[in-house]
Amino acid sequence: AFALTGCSGERGGTGDAGSTDAPVAGFDAGATIGVALPDKTSENWVLAGQLFTDALTEAGFKPDVQYAPASNTVAEQQNQIQAMVTGGAKVIIIGAKDGKQLATQVQAAHDAGAAVIAYDRLIENTDAVDYYVAFDNFKVGQLQGQALLDGLAERAGHEAPYNIELFSGSPDDANSKVFFNGAMDVLQPKIDDGTLVVGSGQTDIGQTATEGWLAENAQNRMDTILTADYGDKVIDGVLSPNDTLARAIITSVQQSGKPVPVVTGQDSEVESVKSIMEGIQYSTINKDTALLVEQSVKMVGQLQKGEEADVNDTEQYDNGVKIVPAYLLDPIIVTKANAAEAYKNVPSLLDIVNQYQ
Ligand code: BGC
Repeated sequence: AFALTGCSGERGGTGDAGSTDAPVAGFDAGATIGVALPDKTSENWVLAGQLFTDALTEAGFKPDVQYAPASNTVAEQQNQIQAMVTGGAKVIIIGAKDGKQLATQVQAAHDAGAAVIAYDRLIENTDAVDYYVAFDNFKVGQLQGQALLDGLAERAGHEAPYNIELFSGSPDDANSKVFFNGAMDVLQPKIDDGTLVVGSGQTDIGQTATEGWLAENAQNRMDTILTADYGDKVIDGVLSPNDTLARAIITSVQQSGKPVPVVTGQDSEVESVKSIMEGIQYSTINKDTALLVEQSVKMVGQLQKGEEADVNDTEQYDNGVKIVPAYLLDPIIVTKANAAEAYKNVPSLLDIVNQYQ
């Protein structure tokens, strides 16, 4: 539903997105594996670095895990990837800062015989990305949209219409559009039939975007909207694409003196899980980072043996040049009502939930 352009036939290859021109010749079991992560815009990225180091070491590889610093992030990430190529990494796993600005580095990796796995965020406009491993981003958005509707019915304290606002993520992250499209797949019909009213009128992704996924940008935008469009009106709900922004949005509304609206999120960050259990933030998404890292490391193992990596989607992720074969994991919606069940395999979060029960 959200492919950018074209179909697999445009790749000029076999037209079968399930097989790639990947350098799957196999390589030395103790090889260096590069992991280039973006700056730490949410807890999942912090966790991923540690998990990759541990899991790759455990599997007998030499991990080279790098984060792009918060400033000069794109250029620094480009340099880090280039250094991994030069250093002889056999697979480079990339959580892109800006998935549109890595084509040169990814091509260099290919030219050097390394495979490239896009991790969590798609890398665009290059045919040198071999695989994509992520949670199903469109489904994340759909779950968020549905949670917003459910939360309004549960908490707004009145019948429709409901006043809502929409937020999306950073424009340099390919996921932002997919999350937003998924959410709008659920919300647009309700906007069209008058159930939902976007008080600011801002429904275009260009207007809802949050540059850099930065909390302060979401908080400032919410402040501005509350002043301009809400006067003495109550805001019933906010679509927030992740937890960091959800908390910033909640802070903004609290500072305005208005009641806290139904606010969605994503990532199951500790502070947001607490907030949900306290009845403040409405929902988050459980995208268990451990599972995503595990799947990525499994791919590395398959490539090491000279096999093709497992994929379960060969249609959705058109990066503008090719459809990138993907392994998509299933995201789980979390509210106070199902938190214990949703985190049954995540001991640290389950502990938090249990403290409230
Ligand atoms: C990830 C989200 C995260 C966001 C900001 C996205 O690419 O998929 O889980 O909240 O980046 O870090």
